[in-house]
Amino acid sequence: MLTSRVVRLCSHLGVRSVGTQEVRSVNAAASREKQTDLTTAEVMAREDKFGAHNYHPIPVAISRAKGVFMWDVEGKRYYDFLSAYSAVNQGHCHPKILQALSQQASTLTLTSRAFYNDILGEYEQFVTSLLGYDKLLPMNTGVEGGETACKLARKWGYLVKGIPKDQAKIIFVRNNFWGRTLSAVSSSTDPTAYSGFGPFMPGFSLIPYDDLQALEAAASDPTVAAFMVEPIQGEAGVVVPATGYLKGIRDICTRHNVLWIADEVQTGLARTGKRLAVDHEEVKPDILVLGKALSGGVYPVSAVLADDEVMLCIKPGEHGSTYGGNPLACRVAMAALQVMEEENLAENAEKMGQILRDELSKLPQDVISLVRGKGLLNAIVIKQKFDAWEVCLRLKENGLLAKPTHGDIIRFAPPLCITEEQIRECAEIVQNTIMSF
Ligand code: PLP
Repeated sequence: MLTSRVVRLCSHLGVRSVGTQEVRSVNAAASREKQTDLTTAEVMAREDKFGAHNYHPIPVAISRAKGVFMWDVEGKRYYDFLSAYSAVNQGHCHPKILQALSQQASTLTLTSRAFYNDILGEYEQFVTSLLGYDKLLPMNTGVEGGETACKLARKWGYLVKGIPKDQAKIIFVRNNFWGRTLSAVSSSTDPTAYSGFGPFMPGFSLIPYDDLQALEAAASDPTVAAFMVEPIQGEAGVVVPATGYLKGIRDICTRHNVLWIADEVQTGLARTGKRLAVDHEEVKPDILVLGKALSGGVYPVSAVLADDEVMLCIKPGEHGSTYGGNPLACRVAMAALQVMEEENLAENAEKMGQILRDELSKLPQDVISLVRGKGLLNAIVIKQKFDAWEVCLRLKENGLLAKPTHGDIIRFAPPLCITEEQIRECAEIVQNTIMSF
């Protein structure tokens, strides 16, 4: 009878073959109350059975995190070297952000934009003065921020630049990544991202990254409204452009009356060693897109910033989102930005990133062909004879969680509160892991 109960539970958990060990662990799971008492295998099996198969995670099941560490369901501790794709810049479960969340959660969470709420304006004022823009448009996810920027640019193109109806173009770069909506995949050069999802958004064109000549040629078309680009390409494998690229973009876009949209969803908010990645060249984009770390990994919050000439092109009813600008998101985002400022996260990212790159550069070149990055947004390029996925699995065994971006590239992006002692320990884990192959 017990066995049949276990078999039923197994099938509920999605554990396919019922060996003695699995019976034991499922039995144990059944006798415990909390769902998080599942084993890693059980967590994986359940997701596999009941969830869509649109991700391929590293086989580790996290149940707790604090600062730079995460713990799996069996209690093993890991350094987080991904930070939820740079969303957890402030460190996991930062007490100041959690306090803002819980205080606001018991007061007012959502009104929709049908009514004013008493926090949104305070948040807009706070962010616009911190980053030097006239206005902010609140959204939730990074990709919605990108969509908003594209809509804003098209509208500006028609109303201000005088582009004939429905002819506005937006230029993107090859290997860009800005999310998974139909617009985002319409500008993608990654077949996995776009294949089978057509027809695609018209009016998008592509040029190579880090190529000012190509931009100069493309931007001279009078129907071009905007150029959208990441200051450092994150998902493409932390591709850092030549010094002067950002200044060059500013100059070309200004001369051709084209809006420059900087997608700082991944690079922004201290990740690269400055508040914004564009600050490395002291230039100001016309439209700035932020997300991820804007909430410190606590809640989906994104924002688009622009000056009045651009932002006021969108009128009531033309754009919005039920959750965008909700009081809970605003409070969380203000706390996340205050933490970034008070704890000098940009400065720490700059220093710790330098140490990490210096240490990793000591690895033999026949194993690691390249170490690159800025601040704490870094990547190593593994020589083809080694498999990046296998390296990440062994890093996991050695207590550090990272994920390959593309093929032979592994991104290293820990929370920005990491200390020197910790970053040196992490560099040693990476060195030992790589040398064990
Ligand atoms: N833009 C960049 C540069 C990103 O790296 C990402 C996500 O990785 C996005 C936009 C999309 O953000 P989200 O996943 O929150 O929609």
